Amino acid sequence: MNTRTPLIAGNWKMYKTNAEAVETAGQLVELVADTSDVDIMIAPVFTAIDPVSKVVAGSRVGLGAQNLYWEKEGAYTGEISAGMLVAAGCQYVIIGHSERRQYFGETDETVNKKIGAAIAADLIPVFCIGETEAERESGNTFSVLDKQVKDGLKEKVVEDLGSLVIAYEPVWAIGTGKTATSDQAQEAHQYIRSLIDGLYGATLADSVRILYGGSVKPANVAELMAMPDIDGALVGGASLEAESFSQIVKF
Ligand code: PEP
Repeated sequence: MNTRTPLIAGNWKMYKTNAEAVETAGQLVELVADTSDVDIMIAPVFTAIDPVSKVVAGSRVGLGAQNLYWEKEGAYTGEISAGMLVAAGCQYVIIGHSERRQYFGETDETVNKKIGAAIAADLIPVFCIGETEAERESGNTFSVLDKQVKDGLKEKVVEDLGSLVIAYEPVWAIGTGKTATSDQAQEAHQYIRSLIDGLYGATLADSVRILYGGSVKPANVAELMAMPDIDGALVGGASLEAESFSQIVKF
């Protein structure tokens, strides 16, 4: 038995106006009020963070953002800093989501800077990695994960990785309805944990939470969570409704 507290995280992507986000967050707060021994996080769009923070304050539900920029402040039109997210009520931030890598030019190097900025501001980074379908089919899953982990975590972030959360999200399983089998997910998670062990030692490898993401639903979460190296889920589509997300939280 490990001592890692599971984390169930909802990525609301570019969905929900402030009014809709406040309504769903309020429903979720009620539905998960009786839970324990599981951490819960939702990540709404930037504009909804402040109103949602007031709804989740003092509840079981934590708050995250979907991205940040690594500088503290400055002439960076359209960006937002880690400190600003903390001031708005965030405890978590998703970094390096495959949609940001695919559509917005996120690289292992920018991910590395963002993880450093998040940790420096006491935000818990949810560091996303995962292979594409072509990479899996050509037998490169492990080498892709290897590069993403090593480059994403290198240099200045290494001293202070205690709060780190990693999300293994095979790109071919995100929003597609295709879930990695629990054995496929476990194999990748075990590999990622062994990478952390090799890079930073057994203490961090034992404590780092590794979430699975990719079409997680109430119907498949229990099987995934039964795996020894799966410590939670990063949920997109099924996090948008409070009812289905609360069922996942109660896996
Ligand atoms: C995600 O956006 O991180 C995700 C895993 O999405 P979905 O659950 O919809 O596949």
